[in-house]
Amino acid sequence: MSYTALYRKFRPQEFDDVKGQEHIVTALSNQVKANRLGHAYLFTGTRGTGKTTVAKILAKAVNCENPVNGSPCNECESCKRIAEGNSMNVFEIDAASNNSVSNIRDIVEEVAYAPTEGKYKVYIIDEVHMLSSSAFAALLKTLEEPPAYVIFILATTEVHMIPITILSRCQRYDFRRITIDTIAARLQELMKKEGIVAEEKALRYVAKAGDGSMRDSLSLLDQCIAFYLGEELTYDKVLQVLGAVDNEIFSNLLRRVIQRDVTGAIAQLEEMVTKGRDLNQFVIDFTWYLRNLMLVKSDTNMEDVLEVSTEHMKLLKEEAKMVDDETLMRYIRIFSELSNQIRQSSQKRVLIEIALVKLCRPQMEADYDSLVDRVQVMEDKMEQGIPMVAPSNNGGGIAPATENNGPIQKRELPTAMPEEVQQLCRSWKQIVANATGLLRQALTTALPTVNEKGELELVYDEPPGSKTINSSLLSGESTRADLQRMIEEQIGKEVTVVTKVNDTNISGNRLYTNAVDYFAQQSNIEIEEEDF
Ligand SMILES: [Zn+2]
Repeated sequence: MSYTALYRKFRPQEFDDVKGQEHIVTALSNQVKANRLGHAYLFTGTRGTGKTTVAKILAKAVNCENPVNGSPCNECESCKRIAEGNSMNVFEIDAASNNSVSNIRDIVEEVAYAPTEGKYKVYIIDEVHMLSSSAFAALLKTLEEPPAYVIFILATTEVHMIPITILSRCQRYDFRRITIDTIAARLQELMKKEGIVAEEKALRYVAKAGDGSMRDSLSLLDQCIAFYLGEELTYDKVLQVLGAVDNEIFSNLLRRVIQRDVTGAIAQLEEMVTKGRDLNQFVIDFTWYLRNLMLVKSDTNMEDVLEVSTEHMKLLKEEAKMVDDETLMRYIRIFSELSNQIRQSSQKRVLIEIALVKLCRPQMEADYDSLVDRVQVMEDKMEQGIPMVAPSNNGGGIAPATENNGPIQKRELPTAMPEEVQQLCRSWKQIVANATGLLRQALTTALPTVNEKGELELVYDEPPGSKTINSSLLSGESTRADLQRMIEEQIGKEVTVVTKVNDTNISGNRLYTNAVDYFAQQSNIEIEEEDF
């Protein structure tokens, strides 16, 4: 016997079997009982929530010879034919592939003939939002004046794409996403019928992965059963088949991120890749994990709302104390963005690695969230008494206030080579010309030279009794800093300036009286007048 997929095998055959849509099935079965049926219904809601299943049950119920409490009996001739798909009264149209006006015109012509058997002709148009606008126009004419024996059931996931003129002629039913509890209970029930032993935790995970869709949950469960045929279905096996990751691993990963341990976080990812986990699923699940953490953080009474296990809740509560709101929001934002990017990407792993580095290193981003996170890092360090270091060239760190009263922010420049200082000495006249005020006064009598450390040494020949004491002008921090800044701006290199005062007047130790003499001596090259 060929294998029948669970969702086909256990498709609800009467209203009471439909799980999670009680508000709808009650209304519909009451209408059947009271014989107060509408002629057009619109069923909307996300995929796998039971729209076409309920449509088929309704089609059977309205034609059933012996309806039971508003539900089809599933035993009469009509019920059987509809179930087999042999009924002349029930038409299923997939609008995704039959969306043209001619498809709808065929239906309109058909509608003109009364049913040869049973009471109602039921047209179920699935994915109705796919109809072309002219097809909608043709359908509208029929909806305006339908024969009494016709019922239209329009099903769609995209209700906003349905023209208002159509909407206004339908009874609308919104199918809810089905809760994890409801799905898990249904899965448990079916596993008993199938004689398969399954851990509750395993079924809950499948239900969660189904994301509110009973059909998807059943398909996933099918996969898991097929993989471990004849064995007990455990949580670990489900994770294995679905390529999913256990919460404990998410917890480890998150804690590494909170500690800003990039290496540790990447190692965790590596482990998951090695185990062959599905990276798309990982991103979705980790985002979900962070979302749960946010809810736990925002309210301690979230336990009842969150559908998580006791162990999972324990981890979340611990982590809620380890991370602040803004940082958590930033984590969620980065991972939500990642889940959009990653779907199409062939470099999934690299994208995840980048995201993990971003989580650990808020300084890599420049938006508000990350700035808040950076301030947090700084505050933490200050509390721990860790001195902050000056920023490196790439500006990654946070600049502390400098000691002294020096410039608050100093540009990092390469130190000038001795040859460059030499060159500077040659164009000294220009330096002097650029200077103003006291600095200029100080420089006029200075003789520039390069000392053995490669510094710019300004020599002043100021023996006792000398009329000028310009050297003293450069002893002030600010004047000297002005000079250094001026030189740096001119040559783009950092130059240390020192002064030396010759206050002896002993013959032989005499220093140069002017720069021309000086250079002649210094470099042994002939200095051309125009250089000065
Ligand atoms: Zn029946």
